[in-house]
Amino acid sequence: MKACRHCRLITYDKKKERCDHCNSTDLSGDYSGIAVITNPEKSEIAKKLNINKKGHYALKVR
Ligand SMILES: [Zn+2]
Repeated sequence: MKACRHCRLITYDKKKERCDHCNSTDLSGDYSGIAVITNPEKSEIAKKLNINKKGHYALKVR
């Protein structure tokens, strides 16, 4: 699994070189914490992390 350095979206497909959300190729295998966002409009974590699309997000990406 990899996490995007820009929007923190986690990609479960190892073959993927691009983030589904922001199209960045800057993915990192070194991240910690996972936030599952199912309802971005109502989630405090989503607001904090600036997320507006549902998915799994890393809390920290190195
Ligand atoms: Zn991204």
